[in-house]
Amino acid sequence: MSVHDLLFLQEQVSKLKEDGVFRKIPIIESANEAEVIIDGKKVINLCSNNYLGFANHPRLRKAAIEAIEKYGVGAGAVKTIVGNMDIHEQLEAELAKFKKEEAVMLFQSGFNCNAGVIQAITQAGDLIVSDELNHASIIDGTRLSKADRAVYKHCDMEDLRKVLLEKRESYNQVLIITDGVFSMDGDIAPLPQIVALAEEFDCLTYVDDAHGSGVLGQSGRGTVDHFHLHGRIDFTIGTLSKAFGVIGGYVACKQVAKDWLAHRARPLLFSTYLPPAVVGALLEAVKMLSESEKYTLACWNNARYFKDKMKSAGFDIGHSQTPITPVFVFDEAKTMAFSKALLSEGVFVSPIIFPTVAKGQGRVRVMVSAIHTKEQLDFAVDKFIKVGREMQII
Ligand SMILES: *Cc1c(COP(=O)(O)O)cnc(C)c1O
Repeated sequence: MSVHDLLFLQEQVSKLKEDGVFRKIPIIESANEAEVIIDGKKVINLCSNNYLGFANHPRLRKAAIEAIEKYGVGAGAVKTIVGNMDIHEQLEAELAKFKKEEAVMLFQSGFNCNAGVIQAITQAGDLIVSDELNHASIIDGTRLSKADRAVYKHCDMEDLRKVLLEKRESYNQVLIITDGVFSMDGDIAPLPQIVALAEEFDCLTYVDDAHGSGVLGQSGRGTVDHFHLHGRIDFTIGTLSKAFGVIGGYVACKQVAKDWLAHRARPLLFSTYLPPAVVGALLEAVKMLSESEKYTLACWNNARYFKDKMKSAGFDIGHSQTPITPVFVFDEAKTMAFSKALLSEGVFVSPIIFPTVAKGQGRVRVMVSAIHTKEQLDFAVDKFIKVGREMQII
């Protein structure tokens, strides 16, 4: 046995298999639609964050192709070296208008955005105060910062106040960070209270609205718009990979913050920018949302329809306030088995287990989109009931 056999990894992978939590990544043989093809079989897709059906929308496809025809397929180099293309500038301007904020800086993804922004806007002598259920990219972004960190209990405003009372005085800047919508439970952060505390204690605020973008607020303007808090959040992060259907991330902020990020956000300095096809498609997505609320409304209607049926069937669907619908199974191995059984019945829904959520909190997470038909949702609910009964989940 040589060191290159990676025995230390073999042991850990074997343990995953023994525990029944080893993941075989599904392989999709078609575009991301309400139905997808897996192993040659059509199944209902309840896994993707393609809330509005933009991932394969004809208007976005056309815009992407047109952008390729004009600009080619690659951005060429990192933007601090080769510069932006005019369509990058245009997308930033359109997004800033859509978000009703002063400026927007694009990133290659939502993850990159958190990895870049948090470390750039904090330094030694500062404190980052974070909700305990914040997304992994916030946790990793925070780790890259030289600031100290503190965590408050999930959406617990008493606890946040306690942390601020205890620690505010010892630091220069204090940055409060929260998800806008929590991705695993679908609950919404109490932003008005967070903003009030931030104002009381003279702190900055940072909202990662990956799951609120394109979903909450007027025509998907996000959680800040949902609570009418424009101008009172310092940094609003959004993703362009979920409801917007393509890939990318951005921060909406003051122009001076954008200027600083251009010099210090490391993913912008050391990683190549979004390719033209992506930017072209995203410009079309922003245009569509600016034109009409029908996309977000269709998503919400479908989500409400599905949730009502699942609740009546007796499933524990948690306390989501958004289209995200967790269906709790709790036990990890049983969660994996539930998802597998549903797939063989033609319903594709992802199991979410530790370490994505706490141990014993296994669930399948249903993502209903604007493009599911009522027939598809009815079919899915019937299969949930059938398998749920067989496995004594209901
Ligand atoms: C999905 C998600 C991200 C990452 O976004 P990508 O664009 O997929 O990299 C960041 N933050 C939160 C809260 C998310 O849910």
